[in-house]
Amino acid sequence: MSVEDALLYEDAGVYKTLLESTRAIPWKLDWATLGFAYIGPQIEDLLGWSASSWTTVQDWADRIHPEDRERVFNFCVAQSQAGMDHEADYRALRKDGEFVWIRDVVHVVRNDDGTPNALVGFMFDISERKRTEERLLDMQRELEELSYKDGLTGVANRRRFDMMMTVEWRNAQRLRQPLSVIVLDIDYFKQYNDHYGHLEGDECLKRVAKALQGVVRGQRDLLCRFGGEEFVLLLPDTDEAAAMALAWRCLDAVDKALIPHVGLGPGKRLTLSAGVHTAIPGEHDETTPFIAVADRRLYLAKERGRARVVSDGGLV
Ligand code: GH3
Ligand code: MG
Ligand code: MG
Repeated sequence: MSVEDALLYEDAGVYKTLLESTRAIPWKLDWATLGFAYIGPQIEDLLGWSASSWTTVQDWADRIHPEDRERVFNFCVAQSQAGMDHEADYRALRKDGEFVWIRDVVHVVRNDDGTPNALVGFMFDISERKRTEERLLDMQRELEELSYKDGLTGVANRRRFDMMMTVEWRNAQRLRQPLSVIVLDIDYFKQYNDHYGHLEGDECLKRVAKALQGVVRGQRDLLCRFGGEEFVLLLPDTDEAAAMALAWRCLDAVDKALIPHVGLGPGKRLTLSAGVHTAIPGEHDETTPFIAVADRRLYLAKERGRARVVSDGGLV
């Protein structure tokens, strides 16, 4: 052996030691035979399969999660044929039947004519990263949900209402369907707070929200806390008569909840007033004036003695 060869031989030993002491798992696949020329012994620590059990590309494919297999296999073959370095994330099967998330980073060694000669790569254990990603996604979903919820009562908030109102308004315009809103407001709530205190007032709002939620049936019907002690029900594809009936059911539900309001005198119960408005929105109609009509009707209901519903037909 020449000195150069000896040095090269020594270098190779150093490289092998280095490769086999990293957490990433090195491997080499001959393109002509589609057989593994090498795979780092660390693979056994990660997946339980010994290095000697990786003989062909089929062993690799068989140890990919069935849901990932076709996508990853086809992608890697196509990239390799095109001579493109690439990487793929997939779940690898462990000998004990569990799966581990892996990132395979692949370099294509090419012949002079550009055809693939071999693939060399590293497998990285990315299961911790995937778990973190999942947790982040869960948190994101949770935050998104919270951002559309009223903190006190748990029903949808104003932000959610504005968003859904826009969506349903466009739907109703397009399909020429009636859309209804019911605006509900607690009667004499100031006195309630004055008599029982603000914390009891909060409890009362929760009970009212719960009673109202029990009335909502339609898949797309949305109850939201509009602000303060005011709630709104958005009712897509609902005509005036149906909306009116539902408004009365809301008032009934709160009546049946038997929330005492002795601030108004002994034996008195908490009541609501409601304004209803229905329209088939025209092409250029806007939502704000539409809701304003329901609001004006709510104030008519207050003027006319409270604990009642006012719709287009006037006092009912
Ligand atoms: P009306 O019958 O005309 O509706 O009279 P009202 O007393 O209900 O109406 P007003 O608008 O005068 O008072 C509403 C009260 O609602 C005043 C406010 O302190 C109370 N309020 C608004 N938001 C909350 C809340 O989050 N918690 C509690 N406890 N009270 C609230
Ligand atoms: Mg009120
Ligand atoms: Mg009010």
